[in-house]
Amino acid sequence: MSTVIQLKSGKERAALKRHPWIYSNAIESVYGKAYPGATVTVQDHRGAFIAKGSFSPSSQIRVRLLTWNESEPIDHVFFKNRIRAALAHRQAWVKNTNAVRLIFGESDGLPGLVVDQYDQVLVCQFLFAGMDYWKKTIVEVLVELTQCKTIVERSDAAVRQREGLEPTTGILFGELKEALVKINEGGVLYTVDVLQGHKTGFYIDQRDNRAMVSGLARDKTVLNMFCYTGGFSLAALYGGASHVTSVDSSGEALNLAKSQQKLNQFADSRADWIDADAFKMLTEFRKEGRQFDIVVLDPPKFAPSAHHLDKALRAYKEINRAGMQLVKPGGYFLTFSCSGAVDVPLFEKTIAQASYEAMSHVEEKTLDFRLIKRLSSGADHPLLMSFPEGDYLKGLLLERI
Ligand code: SAH
Repeated sequence: MSTVIQLKSGKERAALKRHPWIYSNAIESVYGKAYPGATVTVQDHRGAFIAKGSFSPSSQIRVRLLTWNESEPIDHVFFKNRIRAALAHRQAWVKNTNAVRLIFGESDGLPGLVVDQYDQVLVCQFLFAGMDYWKKTIVEVLVELTQCKTIVERSDAAVRQREGLEPTTGILFGELKEALVKINEGGVLYTVDVLQGHKTGFYIDQRDNRAMVSGLARDKTVLNMFCYTGGFSLAALYGGASHVTSVDSSGEALNLAKSQQKLNQFADSRADWIDADAFKMLTEFRKEGRQFDIVVLDPPKFAPSAHHLDKALRAYKEINRAGMQLVKPGGYFLTFSCSGAVDVPLFEKTIAQASYEAMSHVEEKTLDFRLIKRLSSGADHPLLMSFPEGDYLKGLLLERI
C-alpha cells in the first residue's frame, strides 16, 4: 500500500490545475510511511485520486507532484521518459552552443532538479528531499542518455536548508580533471568554474540576451554592471564593441572574466574590468559625465522572497534610475531582475517609475525611453503554464530617444 496524503477540503484546487506543489497547510492527514522521497498518492478530502508525488517532511512544500496519471509508476522508467523528453526538447531548440540547461525542474516534470550541460560535464542540483532520494537513478539515466564524461553535484543552493538537506557538492560520475570547463556559445569562448562558480557555474539563462547585445554592439561603447564573469561583456566584444566597461564586486569573477578576454584574443585596450560596488560606480560615472551606447544592468536577486519586496523594489528603482542616466541619446538600456517575487507587471512598473525619475533628474529634459523588447530566459528554460513561479528571469530592452 502506498502512502496516502489526504488534502483538506478546498485545498485541492491548485493540484487539480496541475500546480506541482502541495503545501503542508493543505494536508489533512497522512496515512502510511512518509519518509524523505517516499512516493505518495495525493487525494482530495473525499478520497478521490489527484496525483502522485514525492514527499519532503521538512519542507513547507511537503509534496511535489510528479504525475497526474494514476497508472504511471514512479520508477526508473518514469525518470528515463522525463529525461529523454527534456533532452529532445533541447536538441530541437538550442543550437550553436555546448552550454545548455538540460533539465529545468518543474518545467520538465522533475520538480527540484536542475541539470546543466557544459560541454561533456553535467552539473546537477537536487533541490528537495524528494529528488535527492532519486539521485542514483537520475545519474544512471543521465549517463545512459547523454554522452557526458563527468557528472558534478552542486546542491549547495540556499533552498536546500529549508528542505532539511545539507549543502552537497562532489563528483557523481566520472572524474573532473579540471574545474574550469571551456564552452563555446555562438563563437564566444567562456570558461565555467563548475565547482566554485555561481549556481552551476554560468548564467546559461541569459544566452539569447547575450546574443542580442552582441548583435547591437558593433562600434559601440558598453557598460556591463554586475558583470560576474563577463557574459555580456565578452558577447559585446565578440560583436565588435569598441570598448566595454564591466563592474562587479567579486575579484574572482573578474579574474575569470579577464582570462576569457585573453582566451578570445580580444585586445586588452578594448575592456576595463572594475572591482567595485555597482551602486557607487553608477554615481561615480554620473559625476564624471560618462555615458555609453549600451548599458546592461543584471543585478543579483534583490528579493529572495516576498518579505523583501519593498526594499528590493526601492533598490531596483535606484539602480535603474542611475543606470538610465548613463545611456547616450539613441542608445540602449537592458535591465533584468531574477527575483521570483517580482513579477513582470511589477518589474515594468518599477522601471517605468525609474525612467520617470531619471527624466526629471536630467537638466536637458530630453531623456525618455521606449520599450523595444521584453526579455526572458531561452527555450531551454520553458515555462509550465500551471507554474508561474518558474518565470524568474525578466528583462526589458529600452531605447533612449
Ligand atoms: N550579469 C551576470 C550575472 C550577474 S550575477 C551574467 O550575465 O553572467 C550578480 C553579480 O553581481 C555577481 O557577480 C555578484 O558578484 C555581483 N554583485 C553583487 N552585489 C554587488 C554590488 N553591490 N556591486 C557590484 N557587484 C555586485
